[in-house]
Parts: sequence; C-alpha cells; structure tokens
Amino acid sequence: MDAPATAPDTAPKQTFKPLVFSGVQPTGNLHLGNYLGAIVKFVDLQNTHDCIYCVVDMHAITVWQEPAELTRAIREVTAAFIACGIDPKKHIVFNQSQVAEHAELAWVFNCVARLGWLNRMTQFKEKAGKDRENASVGLYAYPSLMAADILVYRATHVPVGEDQKQHLELARDIAQKFNNDYAGTIREKGFGEAFFPLPEPLIQGPATRVMSLRDGSKKMSKSDPSDQSRIALTDDADAIALKIRRAKTDPDPLPHDEKALEARPEADNLVGIYAALAGHSKAQVLKDFGGAQFSTFKPALADLLVAKLSPITAEMRRLKDDTGYIDSVLADGSARAQVLAAETMKAVKDIVGFVRR
Ligand code: ATP
Ligand code: MG
Repeated sequence: MDAPATAPDTAPKQTFKPLVFSGVQPTGNLHLGNYLGAIVKFVDLQNTHDCIYCVVDMHAITVWQEPAELTRAIREVTAAFIACGIDPKKHIVFNQSQVAEHAELAWVFNCVARLGWLNRMTQFKEKAGKDRENASVGLYAYPSLMAADILVYRATHVPVGEDQKQHLELARDIAQKFNNDYAGTIREKGFGEAFFPLPEPLIQGPATRVMSLRDGSKKMSKSDPSDQSRIALTDDADAIALKIRRAKTDPDPLPHDEKALEARPEADNLVGIYAALAGHSKAQVLKDFGGAQFSTFKPALADLLVAKLSPITAEMRRLKDDTGYIDSVLADGSARAQVLAAETMKAVKDIVGFVRR
C-alpha cells in the first residue's frame, strides 16, 4: 500500500529571526480604521518584537499627491505613530523614499512576480475603477513594492488590516518563488534552504476591517470622498460625537447574541469599534448593551472614542508642528533601516548573479 499522502512541506526549513514590519501611506488624514486595524497592533508588538514601522510615501504617489500635501502627510503619519506610543528609539520609524533599497528590491520582485498574480489583486481593481487604462503602472505594481518593503528586512510578521491580506499572500508567493528559482545560488552562497522567510500576516481582534460610517459594505478609507464616513485621528470631541450620532444604523435595538450581528453590518461595525477600543470581545459588549437602543449605545461609543483618541490627538498636534524633531526621527530611522536593507541587497545581488562593487 502507498504511504498516506501528506501535503508537501513548502515552508522554508530555515528559522528566521522574528521581526515585525508594517507601513501606513501618507495619503490623507489617518482614521479609526488605520488606528484599530494597524497602529494599535504596532504599539503592542513593541513589547515582544523588534519592529520597523514605515511611512510608505512611494506607495502614496501611485495615485496623484500634491507635493506640499504629501510632505505634510508624511510628517503627520510620523507624528501619529509617536503620539500613539511607538518608540522611535527602541524601534525603527522612517519614510520609505529615504531607503532606496526598497525600490531596488521591488524591481527584482517585478521580475519574479507573474502578471497573472497581479491581475487578481482586488485593491488595484477598486482603486483603478472603470478607467483602468489610465491608472499608473505604479498602482498596478504596488504589491511588488509592498513585498520588497517587508522582505528587504527579511521580516517575519506583518500587522495589517484585513484589506491587506491578499497583498500579504502575494508577498509570500514572491518570497517562495524567489527561494525556488534561485535555490542553487542561495545554497552555494551559504544562505541554506531559503533566503526569504514567508512573512505572516497578523490580522486579529474585533476591528480588523472597520467599515464606513455611511455604508456598512465599504471599508473606512482615507480616500472616501465623504468626511462623514470616517473618524479622523485629528477630529475633536464635537466632530466625533456628531459623526457617531449620524452614523447609519438600522431601527432595531442591539441583539444579545453575536450571531445576530451577521445580518446587520452597521450594528456589527459599531459594536466591533466599541469592543476594540474597550479591549473586550463583541460578545462582552453585547452582554452590557444587548437590548439597548442606538440612542443609548451611540453616546456611550462617542464617549469611549473621545476618551481614547483625545490624548492622541493633542499629542499629534503638538508633535506635528515640531518639524525639526519629526524630520530628525525619520533621518535617524532611515539610516538605521538602510544598514539592514543594504545587507539584504548585497546578498540578493550575489544570489541573482549581478556583479557588484
Ligand atoms: P488608502 O485609501 O489611501 O489606501 P487606507 O485607509 O487604506 O488609505 P493605508 O495606508 O492603505 O490606509 O493602510 C494602512 C493600514 O491600515 C493597513 O494595515 C491597512 O490594512 C489598515 N487599514 C486601512 N483601512 C482599514 C480599515 N477600514 N479597517 C482596518 N484596518 C484598516
Ligand atoms: Mg489602503
């Protein structure tokens, strides 16, 4: 009898040093989705891992950005990272365009990734919209640069919102194909079985996909034309209360059972936001608010939002104006990141067969 079939073990045999990498685009005002889906996780991971957090300005220009506004937004995202509790001394905070190795590795990955893989990316389809012929080449190749962002540090863990899951899977496919295509020189040059780790997405908790306050079927996004669709990290208490009061809901009271939220996307979204902010599960929130009308729940949610966000907003405002300090954080972070990235690029050049100095 044949031996029982087992799935081929394709994961690299190598163990890689645990390292966290993630990025946020300076494309507008940061919102609650970015905070709960990504930045809160960035902060937590600092206690257990070495972390690299990047303001991905090269991704931002895949769609048009006014230069002065881009500069402002790069500093604002940096200020938000620090205001939320990221320590730029213990970890690394920088902007992508200051480390040229990201673009260099992205080119190699453009030659590893297949057109068919990129054609499946839903973010490109959504962002390009109907006028696909007129989208930038950069918007199409975005996932390849994102793979390079992560893998130029050979990072192993990537905290992101649910919307980035598909891009993370593509990064794993690129890493895997590079490891396979160049297996011979990877071994010859002394890098063992695999040069790149397969980076793992970290997508956990009750707010991995915060939805628009106006439409429970669309994610909260910086690029949504309606300011009412999102809570910005710069919103004051009055703006937060008003946006929550106006948030779309249905007429029923909150259910007692989490299962009943499945058919009620707007209610589910608000409960998820409350749970994430309070550090509870959705079930726990429904224990407290099951049976309550939105006229009771919404003010409680607005109060919790203000309590959690207002210290961050105040600190962001203070830091944002100190451009000397912010720029020095980015310069210092870039210098430290570049040392690591340059090491990887040297190895990649040897593995690919480029001649180098
Ligand atoms: P854009 O519309 O310009 O793409 P964005 O709001 O999607 O902006 P990004 O900079 O692309 O923001 O994403 C930064 C991080 O925030 C990513 O990890 C992403 O997954 C996460 N994120 C973005 N929107 C949400 C959301 N609505 N809920 C949870 N996480 C989110
Ligand atoms: Mg996005």
